[in-house]
Amino acid sequence: MKLSVTDRIEVRPAQSCDTDLARAPWDLDAMPGYGPGASRADVIPEPVSRPGQLPQAYREMSEEELHGRIVAAKEALGERLVILGHFYQRDEVVQYADFVGDSFQLANAALTRDQAEWIVFCGVHFMAETADILAREGQQVILPNLAAGCSMADMADEDSVEAAWEDLCAVYGVDPGAIEPDAEGKLPVIPVTYMNSSAALKAFCGRNNGIVCTSSNAAAVLEWAFERAHRVLFFPDQHLGRNTAKAMGVPLEQMPMWNPRQPLGGNNEADLLEAKVLLWHGFCSVHRRFTTAQIDQARAEHPGVKIIVHPECPMPVVDAADAAGSTDAIKKFVAASEPGDTIAIGTEINMVNRLAAEYPDRTIFCLDPVICPCSTMYRIHPGYLAWVLDGLLEGEVHNQITVPQTQARDARTALERMLAAKPR
Ligand code: SF4
Repeated sequence: MKLSVTDRIEVRPAQSCDTDLARAPWDLDAMPGYGPGASRADVIPEPVSRPGQLPQAYREMSEEELHGRIVAAKEALGERLVILGHFYQRDEVVQYADFVGDSFQLANAALTRDQAEWIVFCGVHFMAETADILAREGQQVILPNLAAGCSMADMADEDSVEAAWEDLCAVYGVDPGAIEPDAEGKLPVIPVTYMNSSAALKAFCGRNNGIVCTSSNAAAVLEWAFERAHRVLFFPDQHLGRNTAKAMGVPLEQMPMWNPRQPLGGNNEADLLEAKVLLWHGFCSVHRRFTTAQIDQARAEHPGVKIIVHPECPMPVVDAADAAGSTDAIKKFVAASEPGDTIAIGTEINMVNRLAAEYPDRTIFCLDPVICPCSTMYRIHPGYLAWVLDGLLEGEVHNQITVPQTQARDARTALERMLAAKPR
C-alpha cells in the first residue's frame, strides 16, 4: 500500500494515551526510555540515558523533502535494500516498506531477498535482533532509531531470568548446569520465551532445552514443552502465557506469577512444585489497556458487533471477546467477515486504522476510545528512515544491530525448536 503525503491516516497525538506522542521522537531520544540496554533493569526498566542522534538537518526537513529522499534512496539502492514495516508501525513509515507483517513474518520475509545487503527494520529492537539472527552472513540489519525498544521485552532481562532459573533449579533439586530428565523422562522445567524478548533470552532458552513462541503458535509450543517437562517458565508476557495455558486446560492455580523483585518470585516452594506454568511479571503497555468495560460498551452501542482481541490482552478481556488471536489471525478474521459487518478490535491503533481503510464496506474500530499507539514504535519517524538510507548512499551504516555470534547460535537453536514444534 503506497500512500501520498495527503492520504496518510494520522494518529492525533493530542487525543492519545501518552503525552510523549505529542512530541517529536528525537526529543525523546535523550530521555530515559527503552531500547538497547534498557533491559538491564527488572520489572519496570530503570532510566537509561540515550543521547539523541538524528542530525538536526533531518529534524527540520519537511515531510515532502523526507519523502523525496526516501523514495530516491530506495530507487538508487534497488535490490541491495529491503525495508520491513511492522503492523504497528505508523503509516508515514509503512508506506515505504517492501514487506508489512509481524516480527517473525518480517524476519522470514527478509530471507526471500537474498541479494539484499541491508535490512532496514521499521519496528523495535528485539525485532531487528531476530532479523540479524536469521539473516544470511554479510547482511546488515539496521534499526532506524535505537531508542525504539519494547517495554515488554525490557521487563525480562537476562540477569533476572538467570537468577530465577537458579532459584527454580534449587527448588526442583537439579543442577542448573546439568539438568537431566527424571524417571518419567521429563525435565523439571523448560524456559519458553515469547518472540518479544531480547536475543539474550532467546539464547538462554536455546542453552537450557527451551524454545521461542509467537502469539500464533504459543499453544503448539506449550504442548511441545509439556511433552518434555513437568512445567514451563514463560516470559516476558504473563497475559499470552496465561491465556494460552488456560485455553489448554491448565488451572489458574497452577499458573503462579514470578515477580523477579521478590524472593522465589513471590511464591513458596509448595506452589512452585505444583506449578505447570510460571508466568513472568511482564505485559504489553498497549494491550493491557483493553478492558471488559470497553467490550460491554461496544456491544451496547453496536448490537451484533464482532469482537476480536490480541492474546497479550488481560484474561478477562480475552474471555469476554468473541475471538482472540495474533495480528495475523486478526487480519484473517477481518478478511473472513462480510460487507456491512461491525468489528471491534483490541490491538494497536495503527493496525486497526489500516484494516479500517482496507475494508471501507465494514465498520471497523479500536475497542479503546483513547488513541494509544505503541509509543516505542512511534519513535521510528520518516526522518530516521531518510537519515539511515542517505547514510547507505554515502557508504555509512548507521544504527546497525549485531547479535554476538555465540548468542545468535543459541538463539537460533531455540527458534529452530519453535519451527519444528507443530500443532497436534
Ligand atoms: S505493542 Fe507492546 S509488545 Fe509490541 S512492541 Fe509495542 S510495547 Fe512491545
